[in-house]
Amino acid sequence: MQQNKKFLRQCSDCKKLKSKEELIRITRDNKTKEIKINTNNKIYGRSVYICKNVECLENALKKKKIEKLLSSNLTENIKEELYTVLKK
Ligand SMILES: [Zn+2]
Repeated sequence: MQQNKKFLRQCSDCKKLKSKEELIRITRDNKTKEIKINTNNKIYGRSVYICKNVECLENALKKKKIEKLLSSNLTENIKEELYTVLKK
């Protein structure tokens, strides 16, 4: 694992730069084309990042930002999963 604090990612909603730990990574799997929450960084594909807060997630879902960025539809399951991750 690389620990580089200067390497920040941008939230797709609020555009703030944050460290990976503060963001949820959502990836479209290159192999299955399914959208998944990439918790262990073992899924490879196009990714978007969202802050671990309900405001950013809800905005991103409302504006369909994740769908647009990954050019794929989000299932109800994955949406539920996202909210579950936030509650942890
Ligand atoms: Zn955000």
